Amino acid sequence: MSQQTSTVSPLNFPQPGVEKERKLIGDRGGYFLKRFEGEIGTNVSACYQCERCTNACPVAHYMDIKPHQVIRYIQLGWREELLQSATIWVCLSCEMCSTYCPNEVGVAESINHLRNMAAHSSIPPKEKQLAVFHQTFLEELQRHGRINEFWLMKAYSLKPGIFKEKIKSGLFKDELLKGLTLWKKGRLVLLPGRSRAIKDLKKVFRRKQGEIS
Ligand code: SF4
Ligand code: SF4
Repeated sequence: MSQQTSTVSPLNFPQPGVEKERKLIGDRGGYFLKRFEGEIGTNVSACYQCERCTNACPVAHYMDIKPHQVIRYIQLGWREELLQSATIWVCLSCEMCSTYCPNEVGVAESINHLRNMAAHSSIPPKEKQLAVFHQTFLEELQRHGRINEFWLMKAYSLKPGIFKEKIKSGLFKDELLKGLTLWKKGRLVLLPGRSRAIKDLKKVFRRKQGEIS
C-alpha cells in the first residue's frame, strides 16, 4: 500500500470547478444517499464534517478518500468515485471511526457496505490484492464457518496472479518463515476446524446474495 494524496480540497468539499451533481440510481429514482441510508440503517446525513473519524483511523494515511470524505461523497451521491477508491479496500473494519463519531454515523458500516457494493459491481478494484484477499476471506468463512490462518493464506496464494506477485516481491519467503516460527511455537493450526454454526452462516451468505428471502 502506498501513501495516497487526497482528491478533495482541505475544506472537505469538492474542488472548485469540478462539476458534480447528485446522481439518480436504479429505476426506482431514489437518490443514492436516501437509498444508502435505508440499506444500512445509518444516518449519514447527520455528519457535519468534524473529521474525528479520520483522526481516529489508524490507516487514514493510506486512503485516497479519508473517512469523513467518504461520508461527504455519500451525501453527494458520488457512487463511482467511492467504488473506485482504494479506501474501501484499505479499511480494516476496526470501527474506531464509528466509535469516535459524535453523531453516531456508521462510518465503518458505510465503508463495509461500499466494499460489498464494489465486489458486486463491474468496477475493477483499485487495490486488486486487497480485494482478492477480501473475497478469499469470505469464501473460507463460508467453507469452514471460521477462519484458519494457514488455509486462508494458502487459498489466497493460489488465486490467479497472487503467488507470482508474492514470489516477485519476496513476500512468499517472509510469510513462509513467519508461518514456520508460529508453527514451532504452536500458534499455527494446520487442520481447519469446522464451526457448528456453519449451516446458519451459509444461510446468512445466501440471504445476502439474494438466493433466499
Ligand atoms: S466523526 Fe462523524 S460527524 Fe464527524 S466527520 Fe466523521 S462521520 Fe462526520
Ligand atoms: S473502520 Fe476503517 S475507516 Fe474506520 S477507523 Fe477502522 S480502518 Fe479507519
